[in-house]
Amino acid sequence: MSDAHSPLGKDLQNTFFDTFNDQNDLHCSAVAPSPLNNPVLVSSNALLAAELGLNPEHMTDSAMLRLMAGDLTDTDLQPIALVYSGHQFGVWAGQLGDGRAMTLGELPVVDIKTGKPQLWDIQLKGAGATPYSRFADGRAVLRSSIREYLCSEAMHSLGIATTRALCLVNSDTSVYREDVESASTVCRVARSHIRFGSFEHFHYRNQPDAVKAMADYVIARHFPQWIEDDLRYANLVTHTVTKTAKMIAQWQAEGFAHGVMNTDNMSILGDTIDYGPFGFLDVYNPDFICNHSDANGRYSFKNQPSVGLWNLNALATSFMSLLPSEALVTALKNYEPTFLQYYRQLMARKLGLEAYRDGDESLINQLLTLMEENQVDYSLFFRQLCYFSNSHRNVRDMFVDRNAFDDWAALYVQRLSQQQSSDQDRSATMLETNPKYILRNYMAQAAIEKAEQGDYSEVNLLLEVLQSPFAEHPQAEHYAGLPPDWAGAISVSCSS
Ligand code: AMP
Ligand code: MG
Repeated sequence: MSDAHSPLGKDLQNTFFDTFNDQNDLHCSAVAPSPLNNPVLVSSNALLAAELGLNPEHMTDSAMLRLMAGDLTDTDLQPIALVYSGHQFGVWAGQLGDGRAMTLGELPVVDIKTGKPQLWDIQLKGAGATPYSRFADGRAVLRSSIREYLCSEAMHSLGIATTRALCLVNSDTSVYREDVESASTVCRVARSHIRFGSFEHFHYRNQPDAVKAMADYVIARHFPQWIEDDLRYANLVTHTVTKTAKMIAQWQAEGFAHGVMNTDNMSILGDTIDYGPFGFLDVYNPDFICNHSDANGRYSFKNQPSVGLWNLNALATSFMSLLPSEALVTALKNYEPTFLQYYRQLMARKLGLEAYRDGDESLINQLLTLMEENQVDYSLFFRQLCYFSNSHRNVRDMFVDRNAFDDWAALYVQRLSQQQSSDQDRSATMLETNPKYILRNYMAQAAIEKAEQGDYSEVNLLLEVLQSPFAEHPQAEHYAGLPPDWAGAISVSCSS
């Protein structure tokens, strides 16, 4: 292998391809990227590079740029695209698959917690057509890549399980959407790219052996402790149920709307995956629909918890050849209590409560109703609440109906008085819980507009800010307040 090649490529393996290459069931296809013309590095994620054991300095090498633009010259890599199917907007959509993503390989990384090597998928999104591209071009435009790059890191920094993003590359390659735009790639890093739809694919093709092979692969790679366990498939479904419930509880607590919760966009590990027309709440509005294409609001903010369960039902259905229905029902029954437990804990923590207690539900619900009625900005309220005390009711002016707020504040003050911690201690904990910075659509838009002019500074500023969203960033103070009026006019829809 030549020295001109990035060190990243040398360390990659491909257990998925090794496992399924010889199977007739075609779990994946070998693919070759179509490299971008004149690639330019928009941003590289030094923090993630270090976590992956890569030298952050190598991230800006020309060899790395070539690799990340899909040029595999002088490498031994055999990228693959995975097949999957899925339910889109509640309707069976049949075969989909990695239409614009290809996994270059898996990187072994020593886990700091366990000391054991863990494999991370290194995937290029936007590197050209695959057998699953259908009639599309396999490309990703710069604006959608910027959104995925920034949001996945923002979510990670909020403590939400998610895929990550290692770098973002722009190019001279043109792609045709409503206008001509430049093609880009994001290097997505994930513990797994297996989706609910990966199982549904083989279930609906009546290939139970392939469903089993997929489940065995996931267990061998992620849960080797279960390999000999008779309950391994039930464990896997239960694990997906509880992780998904936890993830969606976090979405609700942080005000995140995914926008396209199709079963092909749900990870078997319960990680947030496939950032498209997502949005964070500005004012608290449970009916918020972030995806312009979602006319009926199937994926509205308030519907996410129930859609999560709907999707898990679809996953459980595809395990019917491996488990009796009673076992699947038992696994699914974990969803609601797990969701509620996490959501309540998270909301209690946002309010500065040391623990959730019976009765806190009405404190939380009354607050949310007030915020909705008074059109209060969700994240800004909780950040300001960090500085609230009985003698300093700073958030009062955020409500049009001050009397109604005073009634709620009286309950809140009474609840706080039942805890030992001082106002200062509570404030310090709340500042670590309620982010000062979230990726509002207008912020992504500002970065996109500059980047489309060749100025990548805003992408890099936002990456830095969103990677420590609880900290002060004087250079980004203007992003910590209410969104500007024009933010409401931004419209985002499905794949671009
Ligand atoms: P998404 O809504 O982004 O999750 O995409 C749904 C399906 O369409 C997936 O199978 C994608 O791989 C595929 N897809 C989206 N955009 C493209 C594109 N530009 N080229 C090829 N396939 C695509
Ligand atoms: Mg998708």
